[in-house]
Amino acid sequence: MEAIKAPRGTRDVLGDESWKWAYVLKVCGEVARDFGYSEVLLPIFEHTELFSRGIGDATDVVEKEMYTFIDRGDRSITLRPELTASMVRSYLEHDMNRGPQPVKLWSSGPMFRYERPQKGRYRQFQQVDFEILGAANPLADLETIDTSMELYRRLGLTNLQVLINSVGCPKCRPIYREALKNFIADRLGEFCETCQSRFDRNPLRVLDCKKQGCRDLTESAPAMVDSLCDECRGHFDAVTSGLSRIGANDARVDNRLVRGLDYYTKTAYEILAGELGSQNAVCGGGRYDNLAEAIGGPHVPGVGFASGIERIVITMEGQGAHMGAAPAIDIYAVTASPGACTEVAALVHEIRAAGMSADMDYMNRAMRVQMKHASSTGARFVCIIGEDEIAAGTVGIKDMASGEQESSPRSGVVARLAEWKEVSK
Ligand SMILES: [Zn+2]
Ligand SMILES: [Zn+2]
Repeated sequence: MEAIKAPRGTRDVLGDESWKWAYVLKVCGEVARDFGYSEVLLPIFEHTELFSRGIGDATDVVEKEMYTFIDRGDRSITLRPELTASMVRSYLEHDMNRGPQPVKLWSSGPMFRYERPQKGRYRQFQQVDFEILGAANPLADLETIDTSMELYRRLGLTNLQVLINSVGCPKCRPIYREALKNFIADRLGEFCETCQSRFDRNPLRVLDCKKQGCRDLTESAPAMVDSLCDECRGHFDAVTSGLSRIGANDARVDNRLVRGLDYYTKTAYEILAGELGSQNAVCGGGRYDNLAEAIGGPHVPGVGFASGIERIVITMEGQGAHMGAAPAIDIYAVTASPGACTEVAALVHEIRAAGMSADMDYMNRAMRVQMKHASSTGARFVCIIGEDEIAAGTVGIKDMASGEQESSPRSGVVARLAEWKEVSK
């Protein structure tokens, strides 16, 4: 029988890497605390309708990428492809709009999209998501951008650049949409198939096509920022003028940053990080003042961002950012003669109960092999117990960093280890 492997587009994050993810999530939690966000734990699956209405039927995500199935109760269920729609659903479901505004929420966890797997892109991927709900003020947009920038700064990322645009509102976007369609229409036949199919339903998306041919064709296309209504213009100016105050001095307006759906309004932004010239987006965010209504709620303005943990870790590794150290055992207890194994197990138990980490051999390996294993685990100290030590009521302790060795009375050994650990911090 053939061995079963993980499904295509998924992968196991093993111990040599998972601690880095935990580190990133820890820093996310600290930033959330410092900016006043509270954490919500949301279901991984939702009613399909939440996403078809909350992301939009005309998007690639809803059309082609969702993991949708009928459950045993005959409901159409979808594994969440993103978090914003769930956040807004939760906010409405729990009447958070009735309390003081805004409400600042964050969450993290796996998302699912049926995409073509490639390096750094998986069908199950982990994201962290921050949202400010109930505030229409451009200060909330600024704070969202600041939150993401601060997160990356604390993670040690450099070469951060903010790309920003406004996608307008249902008042000014249709006018821009027509202008853009007129611009594209003349040479529509020269665009790629995807762009041609988007032309009617979602022409703004033609601007973010990655194909060079299409990019060349839209190089001199009209820009949304030139078609904003007074309200959207004022909002955009307030956000962009605030960017330098939060240390985003080289923020750049990017006309290709679009979303093209009516729920997304005003601010759209990305943050690039990595080597200059080959920077990748580590986060995407923006405002969605009409999303709550789209999913059947009252009008609730909202703004937020999402960031992929995998991409953050890859960027940190690429930039040599500090992530702390891989977790290591404090103490490894070596069994010097087979008869001492129970005594070793008792010592390991005591060490752990005292709040230190410890491990031992369970495979009856030779002492020499145990010593080798101890050093490969990164243990700071090694305790040695054999028949001689049991007879003498002692334990041998070796400091793996200095090579220093001593014999300690069995009764005081845990206190002695705690003392050493304290000194060696
Ligand atoms: Zn507008
Ligand atoms: Zn195209």
